[in-house]
Amino acid sequence: MVAPQEFLKFIDDNATKFISRLGEAVAIPSVSGDGARRPDVFKMSAWLDGQLKQLGVTTKLVDLGKHVMDGQELPLPPAILGRIGEDPAKKTVLIYGHYDVQPAEKSDGWNTEPFTMVFNEKTGEMLGRGSTDDKGPILGWLNVLEAHKTLGLALPVNLRFCFEGMEESGSEGLDDLIKSETAKGNDGFFGGVDCVCISDNYWLNTRTPCITYGLRGLVYFKMTVSGPARDLHSGVFGRMVHEPMTDLVTLLSKLVAPDGTILVPGVEDMVPPADFDEKEIYDKLDYSIQDVEDAVGAPITLSNDKTTVLMGRMRMPSLSLHGIEGAFYSPGAKTVIPACVSGKFSIRIVPPMTPKAVEDCVLPFVKAEFAKLNSKNKLTIENLHDGRPWVADHKHWSYEAARRATEAVYQRSPDLTREGGSIPVTLTFAETLNVNVLLLPMGRGDDGAHSTNEKLDRSNFIEGSKLLGTYLYEVGAATV
Ligand SMILES: [Zn+2]
Repeated sequence: MVAPQEFLKFIDDNATKFISRLGEAVAIPSVSGDGARRPDVFKMSAWLDGQLKQLGVTTKLVDLGKHVMDGQELPLPPAILGRIGEDPAKKTVLIYGHYDVQPAEKSDGWNTEPFTMVFNEKTGEMLGRGSTDDKGPILGWLNVLEAHKTLGLALPVNLRFCFEGMEESGSEGLDDLIKSETAKGNDGFFGGVDCVCISDNYWLNTRTPCITYGLRGLVYFKMTVSGPARDLHSGVFGRMVHEPMTDLVTLLSKLVAPDGTILVPGVEDMVPPADFDEKEIYDKLDYSIQDVEDAVGAPITLSNDKTTVLMGRMRMPSLSLHGIEGAFYSPGAKTVIPACVSGKFSIRIVPPMTPKAVEDCVLPFVKAEFAKLNSKNKLTIENLHDGRPWVADHKHWSYEAARRATEAVYQRSPDLTREGGSIPVTLTFAETLNVNVLLLPMGRGDDGAHSTNEKLDRSNFIEGSKLLGTYLYEVGAATV
């Protein structure tokens, strides 16, 4: 073990104190998506800034300006940039995290008050909004700093921090900051950064630690079919006119097969098949069909083969139909012919797919299929938003360091995973700083981030703090 015993012991000895500090952080309802909570997001930034300063970090709060949310102009919470360690002989690691959280109300179905952290000593669960996403991991870094400061130990690397308060609301302002700081070169805040570490995702299951090297991107479409000037009565106009809903449902049925295959020509062809080495990564993952069935609450996997199912989520594109705006959906038997309906669907994408390439397949295809209907209705289709996918080199020394750190702390090899969702800032760091980005999660797959009864297990918080610290030692010892 490359991390000093006294560091590991300090984390164990101070667990109670660390848990109560997490309770303090959870008690600040820093919900970025609710304008009324904006002062709390600022309060959280001040709290975190204070903690960092106390632990010897030089900080700078960067004003990101204002934005409009739900018709209201609001000040954006600051990005907190921090630095500790200026030794040119050491590597420099940039840590990212976010101090804002998803909304939560007890009435959503929480068993406890979401902004009062409840530690259940029996189960080891620490319940509260933000416990795992992303206050627990941020506090994990604070725990590492505190251990080193109190014990008088030098950190094995130079650290840079970038903490934001708008992650749950589109990371507004952050991309520009990262780009402008990077453009300053060595004088900028991110000058000299050798690698980035982000702890803001989860293990694949509840048992095995993981390190994550990929994220899917997304293209979200809205297609609208409109016809009559107003909603019609089917008893009066049924079989007299072209009905928008009939056209729309026909079009939606052309997009994806029940087995998940994307039917839009050209989309599936963009992704090369997995070679033997890559398949082996998925074969080795500690995951079962039962895990999927437990997570979704029904035996409905597309295949009984674990590797196929996992590749479906991690390295294949997927097309999901999300909903129909303007359709009749209430109880009862209303005999309406809706005048205008919009189908919403999205495609999760993986390298080397790009949103542009996908759009270039989808738009002409949908238009051509609509033309085949010989309908007199009108069709429009638009891309509502998109984001590119990301995959990192998992053989990079930073990943090797994370693997060794996991083996040291958890006595087992980590799962090497890709996520089905996205964390857009990952791509910004990777492309702007042009360094390796590592996702090193702290929490488990069942933590319920973004959901009711979000929790972080005590052992994940404490062992996770040891993991983050040990990772820094492994980075310090790595030969580049
Ligand atoms: Zn998060």
